[in-house]
Amino acid sequence: MNRRLFISTSLGLMTLPTWSQTSKADPFSREFLLGMEELSLYSNTIPLALEAGNAFEKMQLKAKKDGILLEIVSGYRSYDRQKSIWNRKFKSNQEKGLTPENNILKIIEYSTIPGTSRHHWGTDVDIIDGAKPKEGDVLVSNKFHEKGPYAELKKWMEQHAESFGFYLPYTRSIDRKGFYYEPWHYSFAPLSIPILKSYLQLDLNEVLITEGLEGRAYLSSEFMSRYLKHNILGIAAALK
Ligand SMILES: [Zn+2]
Repeated sequence: MNRRLFISTSLGLMTLPTWSQTSKADPFSREFLLGMEELSLYSNTIPLALEAGNAFEKMQLKAKKDGILLEIVSGYRSYDRQKSIWNRKFKSNQEKGLTPENNILKIIEYSTIPGTSRHHWGTDVDIIDGAKPKEGDVLVSNKFHEKGPYAELKKWMEQHAESFGFYLPYTRSIDRKGFYYEPWHYSFAPLSIPILKSYLQLDLNEVLITEGLEGRAYLSSEFMSRYLKHNILGIAAALK
């Protein structure tokens, strides 16, 4: 299939993302897909690909009128950044005595193997309500429910996010495997859907050829096939 044609069709009336026009032949190069390419980001406070950032800012303005301050805790993340998060968690679990196998399973409850994060694409964000006090870890699911500080944000997003193109990949659905429920993580579907299609053409075993990745020896090709099926594809149907 002609990828360019597919993207313009799937985006309907939306324009092509500006960053894709600047890259050479393929808008989604291997480097881009793995977070190894420098992205032009929308702004310092909205670190997303331009098209996604623009949509996020519109959503933010609407939310502000309703008294919700959409604050991005994490947007675009490079391969190197993800690798340092992975290695830090691996070493810390190792010190607690976890076997390498259990260590990896523990990390992938919430974190991704470097090169496989949706945050590499500049389409995904972790958000909180910036008007609420920040105490301890903010990205904890019960803070987004019942009397939690971000419960109102969650309700607002349920009503409005999709009209701006933002969807939860890691829903609470029992049909979903892989990463745990993340009520803070949203993905800009008009971009992330075609990017995922392109990403799935990669050989994940090649993704792992990198220096200094902790636990690398335990990420066998069998493990990676399972990870692809359960984790990378363990997302809401709306984002596939
Ligand atoms: Zn996230």
